Amino acid sequence: MTDTTYRGRFAPSPTGPLHFGSLVTALASYLEARSGQGAWLVRIEDLDPLRESPEATDQILQSLHCHQLRPDGDVRCQSDRLDVYRHYASQLIEQGHAYYCACSRKELAANGGRHPRHCRDGGTPPSDRPLAIRFALHDEEACWQDRILGSQRQVVRAEVDDPVIIRKEGFVAYQLAVVVDDIDQEITEVVRGSDLLETTAQQRQICHALGGTPPCWAHIPVVLNSQGQKLSKQNHAPALDDRQPGRNLWRALKTLGQQPPPELADAPPQAVLEWGLGHWSMASIPHHHTTDTLPPARPAGA
Ligand code: GLU
Repeated sequence: MTDTTYRGRFAPSPTGPLHFGSLVTALASYLEARSGQGAWLVRIEDLDPLRESPEATDQILQSLHCHQLRPDGDVRCQSDRLDVYRHYASQLIEQGHAYYCACSRKELAANGGRHPRHCRDGGTPPSDRPLAIRFALHDEEACWQDRILGSQRQVVRAEVDDPVIIRKEGFVAYQLAVVVDDIDQEITEVVRGSDLLETTAQQRQICHALGGTPPCWAHIPVVLNSQGQKLSKQNHAPALDDRQPGRNLWRALKTLGQQPPPELADAPPQAVLEWGLGHWSMASIPHHHTTDTLPPARPAGA
């Protein structure tokens, strides 16, 4: 039975195939949702055609399927909802929570983050330059409880930290779409990588401006490669080998501080997931960066 009061999600950007770091995030959000009989959704955050590869969405979904990570309901693709995000960007402007901005990064940097054309304070945006839309943050010392990392405090500076929500090229930015969809899909808890921790206070403000209730957050430590770099497409993290899903899940459980028995490393994915569900402990997730753990070597001839 599904407890509809808990709704979690995994929301990858399709910049490449699923790698081990993203599997760790997917697995943590899956186990946290399913161990509490909650719903688990998958959302493809395909908003940036310049960074995405056309085949990545199918590769990610195929990989999740091989690892038996099956979402509830249809997979949502953000590229199908651009009008919805633009509608909310206009609403934020009308309500005074967002503004048009022509300033380049260089101009902002040269001006200490302040907008030289006073776009935030009603200055007329130039008509001959492409305009972004920025969310108008308010000064805040944001405090909240992260379910893994504990008490968090983030200082948000109005104007200087204002995030772009519609880019000059017309693309919808992650910061807006993620909040719109978390509200729309009634997500109650977000389990994601700690590389996104610093966006949280801004997302809370955007969520409040849209009339939503922010979800609870749980940030899991980023997985590092043997050179101490975050596993990511930029650092050439290899794609997961979908031919050994049980092993990948076993490694992901270890990385999440769980203690699966060594013999489970050669079990089928369903068995590893069942073990994970029965033993899931959010409290065991380490608070700091972790490195990938290799499973015990297969016995010779196996
Ligand atoms: N799409 C984001 C990423 O792949 C994750 C967004 C989120 O979980 O809030 O990094």
